[in-house]
Amino acid sequence: MTVSADRHQATVLPPPRLRQSIRKNVFRWFGHHKRDLPWRRRSGEGYAQWIAEVMLQQTQVETVIPYYERFMKRFPNVEALAAASDDEVLQNWQGLGYYRRAVNLHRAAKRLVAAGATVPGTVEELLALPGIGPYTAGAIASIAFNRRAAAVDGNIARILSRLFSITDDITRPESRRRLWTLARCLLPATRCGDFNQALMDLGATVCLPRKPRCHACPLQHDCEARRAGDPMSLPRKAKRRPVPEIRHVVAVVKRDNAYLMVKRPPGGLWSGLWEFPNEQYSAKRKKPGTLRRLINRFALDASPQAQAKGTLSRRLTHRLMHFDTYLVSIPPGHGPASKGRHLRWVTEAGLGTLPMSAAFRKILALANNTVQQ
Ligand code: SF4
Repeated sequence: MTVSADRHQATVLPPPRLRQSIRKNVFRWFGHHKRDLPWRRRSGEGYAQWIAEVMLQQTQVETVIPYYERFMKRFPNVEALAAASDDEVLQNWQGLGYYRRAVNLHRAAKRLVAAGATVPGTVEELLALPGIGPYTAGAIASIAFNRRAAAVDGNIARILSRLFSITDDITRPESRRRLWTLARCLLPATRCGDFNQALMDLGATVCLPRKPRCHACPLQHDCEARRAGDPMSLPRKAKRRPVPEIRHVVAVVKRDNAYLMVKRPPGGLWSGLWEFPNEQYSAKRKKPGTLRRLINRFALDASPQAQAKGTLSRRLTHRLMHFDTYLVSIPPGHGPASKGRHLRWVTEAGLGTLPMSAAFRKILALANNTVQQ
């Protein structure tokens, strides 16, 4: 039965019998194979699910688990998170990457507590909070609040595209709409949270991107891609365009046993984290001039010694970044004074608790010749 059509594949909703078969098989499989994850032991708690789902955005489950446990211990509820300082929140996020997620969580917690509210239970209310998109809202609403809400992430998109043989590029908006329509129509009348979690587990352990384990899949008898004999060809995604390369000069400035640290402004990449003085350069703004400008900007007088230490490259989602690193040693009594909350001299021991990105921790190791390849 066709309910909508576009220039690409039409959205054909599965007939009721097929939906029933899918639900029944998915639930039966989940009963035996459900993963034991720390946030699942608190599945009725909005706050616990919210933290887990935000951490799981762009990060693997195994990586998230220790961070989640530590974060929940330090900030056991929305009030504790709202009361924390920016630095404390970032410190407890350190190493997980995509720091904007922590900044948004903190903003949302402060907003909720100021309004005397707690984590809301509907998709619409959740979407109004910073850092929550349709997938996260659907996951929290269904798992913590038992709402009839779909949640389509990369894993679930892969299962659906194979199950229903969606051959269009799944990154296109019309394909995304189609996947969401299919996900909604598969939802059972009750236990939607379990159903969504079962699909998440199936995508993570059985319907794998490169080697789908169709022989172990509860959907094998209903799956069109398996029937066609080539599930690995799906989902189709347009080739990603090459990302721009961005180059920086970084001055790891050392005086006695302390480093000069600057805090990034709010918004943008690594918002609110601490780093070594650095400046972008390009074909027009050449590297030697950039290092000189950096030295002048931070008043690093008395002819500092700058030693080239090599280049660290980091691939982020939308860019490839290169950091040409210099260790700049200045004599005692020189250099700028610590200034408010944005410029500080920090001892080697103090760096351990300062919120910094993983890239700048590597840069420190590079400057001190302790980097491990
Ligand atoms: Fe994925 Fe194979 Fe299951 Fe189809 S049968 S959903 S391709 S694991």
